This record gives sequence, C-alpha cells and structure tokens, in this order.
Amino acid sequence: MIVETKQDIVDVLQMPYDRYLDIVAPYAKRIHEENNQNALTATAMLGYDNICKNRCLYCGMRAGSTNIKRYRIAREDVVASAKAAAATGLRRIFLISGEDPKYGFDNLIYIVEEIKALGFHISLACGEFSLEQYNELRAAGADEYVLKFEMSQADIFDRLNPSTNFKKRMQSIDWIKQSGMRLASGNIIDYPGQTDEQIAEDILLMKQLEISWAPIIPYLPAKGTPLASEGGPGSLEKTLKEISLLRIMMPSVNITAQQPGKNLANGLADPEGNLNALNVGANMLFADMLPLALARNFSVVDNRITLGLEHIRNMAERSGMTLIF
Ligand code: SF4
Repeated sequence: MIVETKQDIVDVLQMPYDRYLDIVAPYAKRIHEENNQNALTATAMLGYDNICKNRCLYCGMRAGSTNIKRYRIAREDVVASAKAAAATGLRRIFLISGEDPKYGFDNLIYIVEEIKALGFHISLACGEFSLEQYNELRAAGADEYVLKFEMSQADIFDRLNPSTNFKKRMQSIDWIKQSGMRLASGNIIDYPGQTDEQIAEDILLMKQLEISWAPIIPYLPAKGTPLASEGGPGSLEKTLKEISLLRIMMPSVNITAQQPGKNLANGLADPEGNLNALNVGANMLFADMLPLALARNFSVVDNRITLGLEHIRNMAERSGMTLIF
C-alpha cells in the first residue's frame, strides 16, 4: 500500500471504517511489527507546572481559566519524581508545563541536568523559546522537544492560538531542529470545522518536518473554553486512521497510544481506547508521576487521566506487545 499524496491520505480518511479496519489498520500494525519489533514504549510523564500565559481557545489551562487550581512543582521535587520513576525501571521522561515565564529558565536547566545525570531520555514540552534557549536545553541534556503546530493552516492557527501566531510557531519549530533536539510535533484531530483535506495537510507537514514523535489526540473540548461551544469531541475513528497513516508514512516514528475510548469519562487511559490505538500502529504510553490531586488540575483537556506503570504493563500483556523502557 502506498500513501504519499494528499489525495492518498484523504482516501483513507474517507473510506468506510470497516474497510479501513480490514485493510489499512492491519497493514500499519505489520509495519510496526517489522520495523520496531512490536515494541510498546513506556515513558514517565510529569506536568510540573500548569500555569500558562497563553489563551489557546481549546485549552483547559489557558490563562484566566478558573476551573483549575494552579500549581508549580519546585525543581527539587521534579527531580525527586524522576528518581521515583527511575526506581520503577522507567528510563524515558516527558516533562510538560504551561508557558510560565515565572517558573524560571534556570530552574528548567537545573531539572534537565539533574535528570540527565540519572540516565533518562528527556522530552520537554514547555512552549516557545528563543534559539539560544533551545541550544541551552540541548546542551543541558534534553533529547527531544514537543511543540505541536496544532494545525497547518496559518489563518486557523492564528484564530485558535491568539497569544502567538503560526509564523512564530514554525520559527520555534525550526529552532528546535537547529538546536539538535529531536522534534515531536503534530496536530489536533477533528476540531470543529476541520476538513479531511486539512488533516491530510497536517499529516504531510508532520512527514516533512521528520518528526520523532507524533503526540496526537482527538479534539476533546475542555469545559468553559471558547472552542467548546463550537462542537466536538473529535472523531475516534479519524484519530485511529491518522495513527495508521502516520505509521505507514513514517515507519519508525513514535505515536501516542494514550487515546480515549467511547466513554470519554475514562480519559486518556481508557483500556479500550489505548488497545485500539496499539492495534492500529501506535506505540507509546505514559506513566503519570503527578500525585492525583495535582493531576486533576493538569487539564489541557478534560479527564486527562493517564494512570501509571501497572496500566501500561496490562496494556502490553493484552496487546501482545513487547514493553520497553
Ligand atoms: S495549549 Fe499550551 S500554550 Fe496553549 S493555553 Fe494550553 S498550556 Fe498554554
């Protein structure tokens, strides 16, 4: 099966779901088995700061939202969390925050240096920085940086992300690549008004950027956000189709398997949602290191529940995949 052009992608997005499950999904899964030994990659995740200066129209953590309690975890406690993750055998960590200039860039550098010394592969998602800052993060030991382009249409990006703009976002993405960190990026799937052609353009941009990880999930309206009144949630079927398309087009890319199932109240750790994603080509699950009381407030989307390592072990067993750390 060859998937290269925008039309090839649109054809898959628009084919009957049964036909996709019969032909495309098993093909994508086979590519993962042949190229990546059917590995399920476990990664520790810590949302260390949920304060954000930005007002993305779809985000539950946007500045001014009063639905959540704000927190910053002190740098020493972030490192202590990483030590706890290391004690369970985890060797990859994903540190994520809102764009909070007051956290202190020096504190972030300290965290990266200390956690690197523990032997971790470090992925960061802390927003837009300058080239110099990305260079410093790379020098401190960061391996990968997550900055989603969200959508590849500049006019839509500028409407939904009024605190920045598409040009600036793509400049930051370019700087991340220049710094030598691997780039993780991707889109929001099936937000209100998005067309299949636009999803296809997003997928082509991911390929063009040679991303290392596609941190994708469907659009999940967060309560009280401006975009929530325009519709949603995004289609789970379309999300699974995008996962398979990415696997076919980029055989060794990491793809988030932390996907919702039919019962959105189960959040991103829904066993059915995770297994469906693993069965069609996704390969990464996250062990949340946040104490539950804080996890409820790290809510880019509602019900972001991700659970811990036991859940990941269970998913590896049920999917027949080989768990790697
Ligand atoms: S999506 Fe990220 S940058 Fe935008 S408001 Fe939410 S936390 Fe801030």
